[in-house]
Amino acid sequence: QQARIGVTGLAVMGRNLARNFARHGHPVAVHNRTVSRTRDLVAQYGDEGVFLPAETAEQFVASLERPRRLVVMVKAGQPTDEVIEEFAPLLDRGDMIVDGGNAHFADTRRREASLRERGIHFVGTGISGGEEGALHGPSIMPGGSAESYAALGPLLEDIAAKVDGVPCCTHVGPDGAGHFVKMVHNGIEYADMQLIGEAYDLLRHVGGQKPGEIAEVFRTWNGGRLESYLVEITAEVLAHTDAATGRPFVDVVQDQAEQKGTGRWTVQIALDLGVPVSGIAEAVFARSLSGHADLRAAVRGMPGPGETWLDSAAHDRFADDVEQALYASKIVAYAQGFHQIQAGSAEYGWSIEPGAMATIWRGGCIIRARFLDRIRAAYESRPDLPTLLADDYFAEALGGAQDSWRRVVSTAAQLGVPVPGFSAALAYYDGLRAERLPAALIQGQRDFFGAHTYRRVDREGSFHTMWGEDRREVEA
Ligand code: NDP
Repeated sequence: QQARIGVTGLAVMGRNLARNFARHGHPVAVHNRTVSRTRDLVAQYGDEGVFLPAETAEQFVASLERPRRLVVMVKAGQPTDEVIEEFAPLLDRGDMIVDGGNAHFADTRRREASLRERGIHFVGTGISGGEEGALHGPSIMPGGSAESYAALGPLLEDIAAKVDGVPCCTHVGPDGAGHFVKMVHNGIEYADMQLIGEAYDLLRHVGGQKPGEIAEVFRTWNGGRLESYLVEITAEVLAHTDAATGRPFVDVVQDQAEQKGTGRWTVQIALDLGVPVSGIAEAVFARSLSGHADLRAAVRGMPGPGETWLDSAAHDRFADDVEQALYASKIVAYAQGFHQIQAGSAEYGWSIEPGAMATIWRGGCIIRARFLDRIRAAYESRPDLPTLLADDYFAEALGGAQDSWRRVVSTAAQLGVPVPGFSAALAYYDGLRAERLPAALIQGQRDFFGAHTYRRVDREGSFHTMWGEDRREVEA
């Protein structure tokens, strides 16, 4: 018997993906550099389906039906190149190497181009949902050629999460498109988590509520338009009590957030593409700030505001205000992420359909949410939508939220609670909707010190003012 697909790299992700294939009735070849992992997998889960264990690369390749579909789930970076170099010489033209690791899309583009020359399809694939997702149905974002998707898509769609019967997997676009979209997905995830964190912080330190009470607030919100996996697990975490001390779990955890790097990549690439992902950037910076224990220790205890209370009217509506601010800021974070996807798609010629990305994020992944249906609908009704903010539904939601949003941001500033996510999102909204921006003044400054020229509102062309002379305007 031959395997329909093979997985090499059997740590948590690879093992669970292999089991997912097997559970769906696809005979799966399994291989790992350290053979014991392969043996353990078959010993523990062999009864879940048909596994074809291989101890050598040659054995592994020989056990795959053609064209071969080989999924690589190893540590991202150098190991991926090493594994490609190990297997590529054993493959034939038309075979597929699927990289399901968290690769940088630029690496994926490089690998795809080099393997294409050798006649091998390289399919950089974003996989979201962690180990549980890998086993029970992840959100899958495959790049690579349309031809490779024809051979791979049905298998991937089979093991992906389903929402309303629709698989959370679609062909994203050529070469690095899949890993690019996965990267932006992670950037949005950072923003989503930061915004939820700020909402909690406000309810706690301005609203004066205890973690258990705030858990209830999040539970209520999860029954409304904020319904999402992240809001759901937030309630769980906040309701949890530390067994050792009897204190709220959230109070015994060190307040220094970690990161693996995909959020940082999102911001780095956004800067290159000239896309203002300020909400995502603030989320990445907020994690970084939290980790600077030395700086925090040096400044702790510096003066804050005198007032630390809300009047009773403001207090009564505070939780509602925070819900509005959270929803509005979340819309902005997604608008920024989708802008980046569209900019990347234009830059690299990927023809990514933004609505399709919202569709495949509805299940399986960390940012799965009811909200994504709105985004899908927005792009469905208007495929050329310049920004999500301009969609009727979102525009109305932002308009309805703005009073609360402003109250929350100004209250936070007055009372000294940092809300970089909420305020960056509000500044983005106000920046985009402004009639005039001070960028005109900046152009004047640039022309003054560097003769960088400017354009006028009333005439075509570029102009320069002779600032150091008689301030005559000349056409540049
Ligand atoms: P790890 O990232 O911890 O990688 C361990 C696996 O890589 C092992 O199978 C290991 O083999 C193999 N490996 C490492 N170096 C080499 C090498 N030079 N040659 C051959 N094999 C090598 O495993 P995970 O399962 O956590 O993740 C796999 C991939 O999936 C990563 O790229 C990760 O970024 C990505 N990912 C992870 C998610 C998660 O939630 N963990 C979510 C989505 C994607 P050995 O047993 O021999 O050491």
